[in-house]
Amino acid sequence: MNPQLKENLSLLLAQLAPTGCRLVAVSKTKPVNTLMEAYGLGIRVFGENKVQEMTEKHEALPKDIEWHMIGHLQTNKVKYIAPFVSLIHSVDSFKLLKEIDKRAAQNNRKLDCLLQIHIAREETKFGLDRQELFALLESPEFKALEHVCVKGLMGMATNTDNSAAVREEFKGLRLLFEEAREKHSSANFQPVELSMGMSGDYLLALEEGSTLVRVGSLLFGERQA
Ligand SMILES: *Cc1c(COP(=O)(O)O)cnc(C)c1O
Repeated sequence: MNPQLKENLSLLLAQLAPTGCRLVAVSKTKPVNTLMEAYGLGIRVFGENKVQEMTEKHEALPKDIEWHMIGHLQTNKVKYIAPFVSLIHSVDSFKLLKEIDKRAAQNNRKLDCLLQIHIAREETKFGLDRQELFALLESPEFKALEHVCVKGLMGMATNTDNSAAVREEFKGLRLLFEEAREKHSSANFQPVELSMGMSGDYLLALEEGSTLVRVGSLLFGERQA
């Protein structure tokens, strides 16, 4: 057993408890035995950002784990995760959503997704802007999909020490979530999840209403580059 993992997890869960926010343990690059230790400590929700890695870990690990895809997802890889994935956080186009719908149907499933919103100042991060979000939610093509349900929004803040700026980005995402919920809830858009916050900024995200924090290095230690 890794005593550090246990200690990090206890601290994190104590911080999450009063908020009701859930933990997605981001296990990318970590070996299966590390995930198994986390499983032994009660973790059942793991986040991965690569399709092949997630598929291999799913095969090797207990079947009551919820696998969350948090990284950029290519359309041609959806088929590999459609049989087992629990939540896709990183949907950033209608094209991708349509493919998820198709593969979900082939697996007799309805797949839960989040729409990724671009909130950071960095151009490198993926996601929809406000106008694209509303256009998607209003479109008849979206409403016609029968095998996906959009459960909320996800965003990644700018990687900066400026906590006021990060807070504003999270707050903006929460306001957008509330506006979308009020104006556009439908059979396919049932927003209850707001996925925001990582190791460096999850405390701010909690204060701004996150329901899912995606924490990796703070739990498992730094990843190798
Ligand atoms: C890697 C990753 C995280 C976790 O990052 P940490 O800083 O290690 O907590 C969260 N979200 C996404 C989308 C990631 O790719």
